[in-house]
Amino acid sequence: MHEKAKTDTERLFLNGSRQSAREYRLAISNAEKILLEQFANARQPFSGRSVQELSNRIGDLEPCPEHGRDLLEVLEETGEVILKNLLAVHHPACAAHLHCPPLIPSLAAEAIISAANQSMDSWDQSGAATLLEEKLVKWLCRLFGYTGQADGVFTSGGTQSNLLGLLLARDWYIKEQFGRNVQKDGLPPEAERMRILCAKTAHFTVQKSAALLGLGEKAVVSIETDEHQRLCLDDLDQKLARLRFVGLLPFAVVATAGSTDFGAIDPLPALADRAKQYGLWLHVDAAYGGTVMLSDQHRSKLDGIEHADSMSVDFHKLFYQPISCGAFLTKNGRHFELIKSNADYLNPEEDEDQGIPNLVGKSLSTTRRFDALKLFISMQTIGRAAFARMINHTIELAQQTANLIAQDPKLECINREPALNAVVFRYIGNEAEQSRQNKLNREIRRSLLWEGKAVIAQTKVDGMHCLKLTLLNPRTTLDDVKFILEEVKRTGSLLELRKGERSPCPTKLQNKPVSKHF
Ligand SMILES: *Cc1c(COP(=O)(O)O)cnc(C)c1O
Repeated sequence: MHEKAKTDTERLFLNGSRQSAREYRLAISNAEKILLEQFANARQPFSGRSVQELSNRIGDLEPCPEHGRDLLEVLEETGEVILKNLLAVHHPACAAHLHCPPLIPSLAAEAIISAANQSMDSWDQSGAATLLEEKLVKWLCRLFGYTGQADGVFTSGGTQSNLLGLLLARDWYIKEQFGRNVQKDGLPPEAERMRILCAKTAHFTVQKSAALLGLGEKAVVSIETDEHQRLCLDDLDQKLARLRFVGLLPFAVVATAGSTDFGAIDPLPALADRAKQYGLWLHVDAAYGGTVMLSDQHRSKLDGIEHADSMSVDFHKLFYQPISCGAFLTKNGRHFELIKSNADYLNPEEDEDQGIPNLVGKSLSTTRRFDALKLFISMQTIGRAAFARMINHTIELAQQTANLIAQDPKLECINREPALNAVVFRYIGNEAEQSRQNKLNREIRRSLLWEGKAVIAQTKVDGMHCLKLTLLNPRTTLDDVKFILEEVKRTGSLLELRKGERSPCPTKLQNKPVSKHF
């Protein structure tokens, strides 16, 4: 090797040498310094800088200069331009999405995951990592009340888990009903008539999965919800009967354990009964709510989940893991055979004969991160009891928040009894007309984001534009919530005063001076 290239590679790759250890420590401590500075200085959840301003600044960056620069200098510049203008997920006024502050032990684990760089597709790229993932999958199966043949795999999150669940459901049904192997022979003509049922509040990835699975979005039959935003069983029964009557083929029902908007939990035991009665695959999307299995106080909310044929659970939401980390579980691990394929280079059949585990057969991904490690390390460090206390606190805070909103004449609470920690509400103010109220609520959210004071979410409920607080952060207090609600009301009344004028947001976007020096 050329001498110069040799010293470069010594410096650039972590290996057994003392020099590479020194370089690694320096690089990590520089990254740590920049990161901690940003955290220490984040007074608001967002800088509030406009798209245009940030886009100009980022436009000036050179992604690949001819000659490299010093890491610290690069990190400092990145800190100024990028990190300062990210969303501060740890900030109590950052309460929009299912987007959590990550646990410190899992950040330590992330450093190890990325440096060790294992790939979970085959034994010969992961060794003990494969066994640890299997161990955690077994623990999760037990946690959710599965016994015997249950199995699962870590995924990139709810999107992939839901797709995998509906993929198995589709292929299982077609095999049972028509004796056809979808992986080999593709969809039968009857696929045109196959239907999936789920509440109208189910995650949009149910539709997306149906589309990807060749069934079309039209395959998803939307079920009304009851006064607690849960799937309405009467409507389900009527629609099931009707589908059968007109010769359509319902094959799967998706229950949500923690809807994205309301945290509502569908009636799982009743849905398990319906699934059994009608021969449907029951998939439970517990991406959000799965965590309550760790809480003695709230576990019973998921009673019946053990009857699900499959389920999704996300760890980068209420398990406080860095993105991304999720799992898919199925009651009968043999269902994975429906999607099994053997690649000679990765998971040859001889390996199976010798009992060598290659997880690629259960996953939609090939190369895959060792994300199980961070869940393992953080659960061990924190322990179930302390973990449950954090979850319980956030659920209690959501209830207090709902009470506070309900008592406020300027606000209206949509879910008075949040099952988890999402509270949907809206600003009423003095507007009587719904279209004006809708506009007002949209503008309140946008205006708070532009100011960077609070990051809250929006959603639509029966045509009404609403606001939402997702109170995942265990460090958030009722005083923090009061601050956010005061900001909502302050902004709402300001916007009402300016009625007739143009929306303040685009104006701010246009008038704000574009500075190169933040
Ligand atoms: C977040 C969420 C998803 C999507 O999961 P990702 O991890 O974002 O892919 C699916 N379903 C529900 C109920 C969710 O809350």
